Amino acid sequence: MNTPKFSGPGQLILPCAAVAYQEEFCYRCISCYAVVGSIGQPKECREESEKYKTLESLGGKGWDYHLGEQKK
Ligand SMILES: [Zn+2]
Repeated sequence: MNTPKFSGPGQLILPCAAVAYQEEFCYRCISCYAVVGSIGQPKECREESEKYKTLESLGGKGWDYHLGEQKK
C-alpha cells in the first residue's frame, strides 16, 4: 500500500501506517475497517496508538496523525 506523506482533510494517518477516513462521528481505518478507538479495532492497530498515547502521558513525544510520524 502506498502511504501518503500528509493526510488530507478528514483523514488521519495511524501509527500502524494505515489511513483512517472520517465518518460522521468517527474515523474508520481503511486497512481493518474498524472504527479508530473502538473495541473492534485489531490488537496490533490499537497497541500502536496506545504506545504513543502512553509515551505522551509520560512526557514523551506522541503521534502526529496528520503528518503520519512521531511528533518532533
Ligand atoms: Zn487498522
